[in-house]
Amino acid sequence: MVAVNVCVVGCGYVGLVSGAGFAETGAVVRCVDVDEGRVMRLNRGEIPIFEPGLGEMVKRNVEVGRLSFSSDLDSAVRESTLVFLAVGTPPREDGSADLSAVFAAAASVAKAATQRTILVLKSTVPVGTNRRVREIVKNAPAPIHVVSNPEFLKEGDAVNDFLRPDRIVIGCEDGDEIARSTMTQLYHPLCLDKDRILWMDPASAELTKYVANAMLAMRISFMNEVAELCEKVGADIHRVRRGVGSDSRIGLQFLYAGPGYGGSCFPKDVAALAHSGREAEVYLELVHATAKVNDKQKQVLPRKIKASLGADLGGKRIAIWGLTFKPKTDDIRESPALSLIDALLDSGAEIVVHDPEGMPNVRAIYGERLRYASEAYEAARDADALVLTTEWRQYQQPDFPKLKKLMRNPRLFDGRNIWSEYGLHSQGFEYTGIGIRENQKNAQ
Ligand code: NAD
Repeated sequence: MVAVNVCVVGCGYVGLVSGAGFAETGAVVRCVDVDEGRVMRLNRGEIPIFEPGLGEMVKRNVEVGRLSFSSDLDSAVRESTLVFLAVGTPPREDGSADLSAVFAAAASVAKAATQRTILVLKSTVPVGTNRRVREIVKNAPAPIHVVSNPEFLKEGDAVNDFLRPDRIVIGCEDGDEIARSTMTQLYHPLCLDKDRILWMDPASAELTKYVANAMLAMRISFMNEVAELCEKVGADIHRVRRGVGSDSRIGLQFLYAGPGYGGSCFPKDVAALAHSGREAEVYLELVHATAKVNDKQKQVLPRKIKASLGADLGGKRIAIWGLTFKPKTDDIRESPALSLIDALLDSGAEIVVHDPEGMPNVRAIYGERLRYASEAYEAARDADALVLTTEWRQYQQPDFPKLKKLMRNPRLFDGRNIWSEYGLHSQGFEYTGIGIRENQKNAQ
């Protein structure tokens, strides 16, 4: 069997992982990006994002000649049977997805194609985009089949998710046997143990992606609301989570209360789904409520900190552990840590931050308005409070006596409830989590 030739447009979190992933399964993959600096770094062997296992997979496949990077879209398209669009779809002011990069890339592909091409929409795009892209490419000199294949990988475990997906959703027009057989061949190596492909029409595939993310976000928002109730009625969100999630119809995942969800997907996808609903004149109550609860939740940590230290934080030094929206990524997009930083800066606090991977991205936004500690304990030195916002493994079981000695005032705000079982009150800390019984000891 001859290798499948694939072009991936966009070398971000999704494009890079998908490109390297397809190469890993035997395809010949040409990744292109408009960001020439990014392409140059990739060609020097540098990985522009932090994603566990990605560097090794890229290196392996570049070395055997199955993976390459360039900014020459035309020749990459001409060499390829399949062209994946993995460009960004950021939110617009009104919550809708900005599709300009998708449409621009689709138009470039249509211009460049000289042979039959399967154009695959991997970016997260609202229902109806497949149809609009078909309009854009319909007068191309070569036949172009437009397929929707949303990506479900999660940052931090993206390589594993790509190579062992729960499912592969493919939206394809009825009767398009060419697209169907080409996609089947491409994904065959990922379906050796079982067929993971779910075939559907493009609109259903597009909607599936948004509904999946909104459903996960909704679970988090619901637990965040329940956490507030726990604090008022003397219950503990940990125990409620275990009690509820043990029901096999519910499951334990995505039921953690915390500082609010963030990341490049949940906030924007929830907003875009709400927008799609508005356009279709269906008001999606639960989707709107999910976003509203999350906005509110992002203020919970600042509120708890001010309740303890006072509304005016002038002269107070606050240490923050964890800046990325979750562990094992360098992605800080919509991270709740950023809302926290903004609120604390507004109240005059001096902020010292630490994160294993996220500091360069945060520095690019805040510059010298923050201090950046090269080591976690260093951030806590002389601090009036330490706030944990991201549960990186290295923060999970710190040396508390050492922290107590270093800090000016031993106050801990645990945005992930991971220190709640350590009896920190009896060790002389003021300890505050989210929706847990330990909080009541502060009030005693
Ligand atoms: P990203 O911002 O990391 O990467 C996008 C890349 O596309 C950038 O490198 C950019 O330079 C490039 N680009 C933009 N316009 C281009 C063009 N016309 N031609 C070539 N390159 C172009 O974005 P991402 O996080 O990889 O997300 C991409 C899409 O995948 C989004 O729609 C997102 O919602 C979706 N998605 C993301 C994740 C995730 O965890 N990040 C998971 C599933 C789906």
